[in-house]
Amino acid sequence: MIKSYGLCEKRGDIKQIFLEQLTLYDHLELAIKKYKSKIALVEKSRKLTYIELYKETSRVSGGFLRLGIKNGDKVLIQLPNCIDFVIVSFALFKIGALPIFVLPSYRENEIDEIIKKTKPSAMVINDSYLGFNYKNMAINLKKKHKSINWIINVDKDDENPCIKDFKESNVKYEKPLYNDTAFLILSGGTTSLPKIIPITHNACAYYAKECAINSKVNEKSTYLAILPIAHKFALSMPGVIGTLILGGKVVMCESGSCEEVFPIIENEKVTITSLVPSLINLWLEVLEWDKKHDISSLKVLQVGGAMLSSNTAKEIVKNMQCNLQQVYGTSEGVICFTDLDDDYNVLYNSQGKPISRFDEIKIIDENSNIISNGEYGELLVKGPYTIKSYYEKDVSKDNYFTEDGFYRTGDKARIVFNNKIQIVGRLKEQINRAGEKIMPSEIENLLCKHNNIKSSAVIAIEDEVLGERSCAFIISDNVNLKKADITKFFIDMGVASNKIPDQMEFVDYFPLTGVGKINKKELKKWILK
Ligand code: AMP
Repeated sequence: MIKSYGLCEKRGDIKQIFLEQLTLYDHLELAIKKYKSKIALVEKSRKLTYIELYKETSRVSGGFLRLGIKNGDKVLIQLPNCIDFVIVSFALFKIGALPIFVLPSYRENEIDEIIKKTKPSAMVINDSYLGFNYKNMAINLKKKHKSINWIINVDKDDENPCIKDFKESNVKYEKPLYNDTAFLILSGGTTSLPKIIPITHNACAYYAKECAINSKVNEKSTYLAILPIAHKFALSMPGVIGTLILGGKVVMCESGSCEEVFPIIENEKVTITSLVPSLINLWLEVLEWDKKHDISSLKVLQVGGAMLSSNTAKEIVKNMQCNLQQVYGTSEGVICFTDLDDDYNVLYNSQGKPISRFDEIKIIDENSNIISNGEYGELLVKGPYTIKSYYEKDVSKDNYFTEDGFYRTGDKARIVFNNKIQIVGRLKEQINRAGEKIMPSEIENLLCKHNNIKSSAVIAIEDEVLGERSCAFIISDNVNLKKADITKFFIDMGVASNKIPDQMEFVDYFPLTGVGKINKKELKKWILK
């Protein structure tokens, strides 16, 4: 069945929701005018009011203009959660240049591909984070890619322009239109490397506000950004963007560790945050014995990005005084939330319904037939903020979009409780490691670059902490090959650390299926025996 979650009988209705002909910067400016000296952003001891955010954004956009960065140019941003991330992003939104948001965990291998496809004219980085030197990596990438004119540092830098030295400018610039692409984000990736997703100003403002309505975020709210804000969840569901355009306060946090997070929740009176299931399990463990922090200000805990077991959902409700909100989201578009007043059965066993009444979903079987309520199939979605194609022209549209404009999520789902969506897994092979999506085929290709590895097969194994971990089965002709050698090989290749197999098993052969493919189900049994 096709389900449209509201009043969208006529397709013409969709036009009405885009009546807000504003860019993301216009939205921020409205909030600045209204909330002036109210605190907008907090990062450790650094605090910025809305007016200060306005001044900083003007100064930094001036700096970009002076460097010649203009409407339509792309700027790759690789920063941890920090206030400068927000200033740089809104400065670029203002002048119509497009940030490409890249997770801090990405390394040369991944970024190289993204640069090839997007040709950014600058990279914004900080010196180092969690022991990794981003400046060295940026220097290497700039040498390889002619498009990159500037490495821009948020830290003091003798060789490169630094955000701190940027000054306002009178240079005339071409403002973006409300329906222009505002930024590029990267999908979890169902092929070997992430796909690039263009998000327009009005689509982002629309879904961020709809998310805010669904999670009751307003000017009184304080959002704690724990997950990387380069990802759509913490960036805009409602996340940083939704909270700021509604006049709330955003607090930045570097890690999800309870030692860092609980004092911040207490001191800043955080009202809402979002987590992936692997982090919430750690929180629950610590909360069993940590009674010294008062986290009662937290009213909404969004959990999504990967499967939340109904037992963990129950634990959250039992042990934390906040509302749990299950979140299912895709970088490509559709977002589903449980309602804050959903009954427990719905809350524990579903991911709720799409946030917009204009979202349409259908669930189909392997022959593309629409199937009825309660039956499992692939979830297809279409709606005002779901993309109709990827940024890359070479990504085959047919694999990801139907002729009638639905995006194929690749997720196995069914309709439960009359109109709620329950996600039960992936139809396509994928490892969901603490919310980060990794393709086994990508790890296999990387393993096979090693001279001593003849063949490999990578599978997902359920993991108490990570949700899923990667396990690589390796056939090698060198009996002296060690796991540490392979780990070093991955690091030397400049691969994101979450792609280094969590578990490695050296084997003599692979079990095969009837048609001669590696039998990954059997491999999993080997591990679980
Ligand atoms: P990404 O593009 O990184 O945002 O990943 C989107 C994918 O994450 C979805 O297509 C799902 O496979 C998975 N996902 C997101 N939220 C959930 C959830 N609540 N439960 C299960 N899987 C989820």
